[in-house]
This record gives sequence, C-alpha cells and structure tokens, in this order.
Amino acid sequence: MAKVKKKIKSIKIDLDKCNGCRACEVACSAFHAKPKYSSNNPARSRIRLVRDPLRDVYLPVYAGEYTKAECSGRDKYVMDGKEYNECDFCRASCPSRELFKEPDSGLPLKCDMCEDDPPLEKPLCVQWCLNDALVYEEREEEVEEEVKPEEVEIGLESMVDKYGLQKVMDTVARMSKRE
Ligand code: SF4
Ligand code: SF4
Repeated sequence: MAKVKKKIKSIKIDLDKCNGCRACEVACSAFHAKPKYSSNNPARSRIRLVRDPLRDVYLPVYAGEYTKAECSGRDKYVMDGKEYNECDFCRASCPSRELFKEPDSGLPLKCDMCEDDPPLEKPLCVQWCLNDALVYEEREEEVEEEVKPEEVEIGLESMVDKYGLQKVMDTVARMSKRE
C-alpha cells in the first residue's frame, strides 16, 4: 500500500510551569461553544486541570479516547514529592468519573488540537497559556494511505460502466476465493 506523509500534532506539558490559572480551560470551552466564543464553561473544555492547591498539584490533561469500561489501575505515583493517582494522568472519557463528558448530553469530549478552517497556527489552549506550560509540537510520519470508501465506489462505478456489473461481480467472486 502507498505511504503518505501525515502531520502528527502533540502538546508537551511542563508541570513546573503550570500555576493552575485555568485559562486553557476557558479558551478551549469558548472555542468549541456554539456559536464559537458565545460562552465558556470549563466543564465543556477538552483540557482539564487536576488541581489541588493544598498539595501544590496543578496537572493539565487533555481529552483522549472514550472508553466503555473503567480500568483496574489504581496505582499512586510520587514525583517531586507530590503524590498523583493513576487516574490523574488518564486522558480517557471513562464511566468512573465526570471528566471529559459534555455536561448536557453526557457525550464524550475529545481534543481535536483545534481543527479549524483556516487552520490555527497553534491550538488555542497553547496560545492562552501565558506561562508556557503547554508546548505545541508537530512532526511528520509516513503512514499507509487511508482507503476512502467514496473513492473505491467511484472506481467500481467506472469499471461497471466499462465492463458491465456481471463481469465485475464474477471477478470479485473469483478474487475472494483466491484469498
Ligand atoms: S488543543 Fe484545542 S481542543 Fe485540544 S485541549 Fe487545547 S484548546 Fe482544546
Ligand atoms: S493556562 Fe497554562 S498555566 Fe494556566 S492552567 Fe492551563 S496549563 Fe496551567
């Protein structure tokens, strides 16, 4: 299969620089409000802050995949003398917590690195983090070209036009027996 170059986006988090201001949550929820910037509500943000000022814990986490079931991991981690739960680092929208669920519909939220048209120079949370705790990175990776169903359909239609439906179906049946 042909290889194509794909842009991979990521946000590096520097915990030492985050002061818990929550500007990232405000910016993200406002950007994704409908209409855009019409409201802000951190509960709708795709980046959330695990925040415990008494322990000086400020941990920004951005939303990843939805998961149907909670995991069994309940380990604790100590870093720079601060204790974190395993869940603190988890990016999943998961049944065991409220994080990364749209408050009205309950639908899972996922970071889109701020897809927009025209594209943003940097994701909004990165732009609004004045402490530089969020650092945007881009790299290119070679991946196998995605097969688009609509392109397959167009190809099949033109073969049917040229050779007739029966001949195309016979060929597909013969090929599938070979596999
Ligand atoms: S990159 Fe965009 S969508 Fe993702 S958390 Fe930041 S502001 Fe929200
Ligand atoms: S905007 Fe930056 S400093 Fe403020 S909470 Fe978010 S990550 Fe932390």
